[in-house]
Amino acid sequence: MRVVVTGGAGFLGSHLCDALVARGDDVVCIDNLVTGSHDNVAHLFGHRFTFVEHDVSNHVWVPGEVDAVLHFASPASPRDYLEMPIQTLKVGSLGTHNTLGLAKAKGATFMLASTSEVYGDPQVHPQPESYWGHVNPVGPRGVYDEAKRFAEAMTMAYHRYHGLDTRIVRFFNTYGPRMRPGDGRVVSNFIVQALAGDPITVYGDGNQTRSFGYVDDTVRGVLALLDSSEHDPLNIGNPGEFTVRELAEIVIELTGSTSSIVCEPLPVDDPTQRQPDITRARELLGWEPEVALRDGLVSTIEHFRHL
Ligand code: UDP
Repeated sequence: MRVVVTGGAGFLGSHLCDALVARGDDVVCIDNLVTGSHDNVAHLFGHRFTFVEHDVSNHVWVPGEVDAVLHFASPASPRDYLEMPIQTLKVGSLGTHNTLGLAKAKGATFMLASTSEVYGDPQVHPQPESYWGHVNPVGPRGVYDEAKRFAEAMTMAYHRYHGLDTRIVRFFNTYGPRMRPGDGRVVSNFIVQALAGDPITVYGDGNQTRSFGYVDDTVRGVLALLDSSEHDPLNIGNPGEFTVRELAEIVIELTGSTSSIVCEPLPVDDPTQRQPDITRARELLGWEPEVALRDGLVSTIEHFRHL
């Protein structure tokens, strides 16, 4: 297949490019490098891999045949999308429209990288795909949540109205090598702080929960979904649920750090709990995560040690 990956130089996108190239696909990676980096894909040059520096919120065109368009471009860390609210809204809305247009013109399959943030601060736990969510549209996080909700609606409209072959994957917190040390997410922050012996910054009381999926499991889920014919949204995440304080303690233990834990203010609209219901992924794809949090953290810590 010839596959276009937007956001292909980002954390998740670059692992996806690796997996596509490894299975013999040709990859065209489009990225404007606002949160992505050449370093994430430098090893792919010369291996059925083309890089195009472009912002997909503007018109997108790729010459030649294309079999699939995977729209993974967006700031994804709360710190990033709070700093780039308008770009985040644009890449989720205009970027999704442009990449859907590319897929339609090429007769290609389209996949949208969506998010558990469409569930907002969920009042149903764990979250099945059938849950409509509890999002504050005008709060600071709304720029990401609503962009992705619009993107899902636009994707379904292209599917229903144009008959486009579409996929929607809803990711839960994903971690692993190539996370940016300064991206502000909890796993990268805690590892960087622990390795430096700095205080671990727990926001709020640390009793809020997240469910952390290792990037290799996530990418395996993406490929399984791409190869399926499932048009409805699908959760891809690891149901292992931890409080943020538990995560801090595990990171301290695995790094052998002397760091203390300090509490800082909880960001506005920070979800109190999050856990994927992956029944549909299990039934439709035969997919489930294989990497336990501690094992994935060991690999991730190793990556950060060598930066
Ligand atoms: N968090 C924290 N300390 C940090 C960074 C994040 O306690 O240094 C918390 C954050 O408030 C949230 C959780 O960890 O409750 C996950 O945050 P992250 O930014 O990784 O992603 P989110 O799941 O909120 O999109």
